[in-house]
Amino acid sequence: MKVTFLGTGAAFPDPIRGQSGILMSLNNGRHFLFDCGAGTTRQLVCAGVNPADVDLVCLTHLHHDHICDYPAFIITGWMFDRPGSSVLLGPKGVRHFSDHLFEGGAFKGDFDARSHYASRKANIDAIRPDIREMSPGIVYEDDDIRITADLVDHIPNDINECFGVRIEAEGKTVAFSGDTAPCESMVRLAEDADLLIHECTFPESFIEFRKRTGVGIHAHTGPTDLGKIAKRARVKSLVPTHFGHFDSTSPVLKHAARNHFPIDEMGPHLFDDMARDIRAEYDGPLTFARDLLRIDL
Ligand SMILES: [Zn+2]
Repeated sequence: MKVTFLGTGAAFPDPIRGQSGILMSLNNGRHFLFDCGAGTTRQLVCAGVNPADVDLVCLTHLHHDHICDYPAFIITGWMFDRPGSSVLLGPKGVRHFSDHLFEGGAFKGDFDARSHYASRKANIDAIRPDIREMSPGIVYEDDDIRITADLVDHIPNDINECFGVRIEAEGKTVAFSGDTAPCESMVRLAEDADLLIHECTFPESFIEFRKRTGVGIHAHTGPTDLGKIAKRARVKSLVPTHFGHFDSTSPVLKHAARNHFPIDEMGPHLFDDMARDIRAEYDGPLTFARDLLRIDL
């Protein structure tokens, strides 16, 4: 199995990172996509993968940095001759989200134009996803892969359900947190995993700043807690991702983030702090995600 990080940033547009998108590729050539934030479809092509060859998309939650490239992904697959529907897994509300995109939705104009062509009529099912709303437990299983999901602790569930997942295929296990504060369900999903991909949106100094200034903080996991989670779950390797732009040197991002972060401290050196804090508890292999990083398991 190969894991390719298509997007490793968070909610802001970032010059060096796309938004959340992680591709699992099996040795038999099947591809499964987890999250579809801005830039994901283009990054698939950069990674050498035809979007039409991705069988399934799992959206961990319905925040824009995890879903906003989904229309591009579906329309591209349609244009690239995907023969039929792809599976769409997501939280409660994902059916509403998808149903309001294509034939009768936001991209109706595009649908009306393209569906006029015989070649697009021939694979019209490519723009009609097979939608399945998730609830905790096994959410997808076939001969090659099993995906188990559980609720995580990002936003209150009555506002937005947010899921983490455990993916088992080819004798390997990968867990992916989506977005979450430290939570017991991620420890369970990641138990003995070969690879834990876990959000680590801010370094501890930024979390402290956000507590002091009253900017929301409950929703994400810091490096100290992430080290504890990785240790308790006994994971064999750890890749933190979903970086909240703290490493950026972009003047535009620094200006935009001035009420969110201590912008004078921003820069890639903060990964040294993050590594030190994760290492306080976890001593296994550690790789910080970057766009187009591949991990072979
Ligand atoms: Zn996010």
